[in-house]
Amino acid sequence: MPGFEVFGAEERKQVNDVLETGVLMRYGFDGMRNNHWKAKEFETAFAKRMQSNYCQLVSSGTSALTVALAAAGIGAGDEVIMPTFTFVASFESIMMLGAIPILVDIDDTLTLDPAAVEAAITPKTKCVMPVHMCGSMADLGALKAICTKHNLLLLEDACQAIGGMYDGKPLGSYGDLGCFSFDYVKTITCGEGGGIITNSEKYKLNSDHYQDHGHDHVGTDRGAESHPFLGYNFRISELNAAVGLAQLDKLDGILKTQERNYHIIRETLSQIDGVTFRRVPEGGEENYSFVNFFLPSENLAESAHKALSENGVDACFYWFKNNWHYINGWEHLRNLKSLGNLSSEVKAQMQDLNATDFSKSDAWMGRTVSSLVKIGWTESQVRDRAECMKKAILSVL
Ligand SMILES: *Cc1c(COP(=O)(O)O)cnc(C)c1O
Repeated sequence: MPGFEVFGAEERKQVNDVLETGVLMRYGFDGMRNNHWKAKEFETAFAKRMQSNYCQLVSSGTSALTVALAAAGIGAGDEVIMPTFTFVASFESIMMLGAIPILVDIDDTLTLDPAAVEAAITPKTKCVMPVHMCGSMADLGALKAICTKHNLLLLEDACQAIGGMYDGKPLGSYGDLGCFSFDYVKTITCGEGGGIITNSEKYKLNSDHYQDHGHDHVGTDRGAESHPFLGYNFRISELNAAVGLAQLDKLDGILKTQERNYHIIRETLSQIDGVTFRRVPEGGEENYSFVNFFLPSENLAESAHKALSENGVDACFYWFKNNWHYINGWEHLRNLKSLGNLSSEVKAQMQDLNATDFSKSDAWMGRTVSSLVKIGWTESQVRDRAECMKKAILSVL
């Protein structure tokens, strides 16, 4: 997955463009910047690549989620449905706005179970936030039907699945808003950065203003701009955007290499009786950044993961235990440990996460092992790795 593996002269050239003018900010300083507008250029190119009308760059994937929710008018007491298997940014971004994360089960797609989503809807629900974990997607068709029926916003977290497709559309472009991360370990990186895509002019304008203190960005005198509503600072710097611009050119090449490496591993593992694969919804195509597979039981998955590591296979994950991506690892959320007081809405409306039954999620996560797909592996290195994985897994079955 990580785009830093192919870091090179292109990134240096883009960054030097910015360093030579000294204008590290994405707005203003028109006379000094020698016509370099790296953030703007990235936004135009990314919107086009993602077949969307608009892109807004921000400082991280987490801020992309925050700004997207804010742009759609989500605020205190609004409920946002999210999965039990995700990165912590999901609930962080929701709670940042005083809104309430409602956690629901995942299914064999390792993403939101549409039936669990529908069962969790209340009069306060405003948004469904599927997270396309580990390179593959939620059942977006089913989720969109639920959102349409209940008049809810569909916000895709595509941070881990950039370049994947669903129903002929790039992931992130199917819902009302889509969010991406360009942090250091993502498929393409800005160092730190994030992006929002949408076809809605209103959401684009709202996010443009919100991520820059409410500035309306009209005219050429920043100090004289008006501020139609309250905002914050979630801006990306021109230096980070410059790195991303070089990486964006490499995206399709990265995806192709991932796909080749993915298939070599998958074909080898599919020769093992007892190994099955995560379901990809009909009409979906993964971005091939991970191979995700199930063992027949929780015990076997845990021992397979241990055997993989003992056999020197790196970059394999057992998310169910000792990890940051599943509700089991979120003791701070389950017990609402915050530095200051949480809003009264959060205190009143939060599920009791220590008492909620997530056995359906446990049943899938307990059996799941994931292997990262790296870009730097040569074909023969992947073949060796795949054989080594097969041997390690067979040793516990
Ligand atoms: C990485 C990631 C984020 C957050 O991105 P940052 O840029 O690190 O803030 C959000 N959601 C998912 C699924 C991620 O993997």
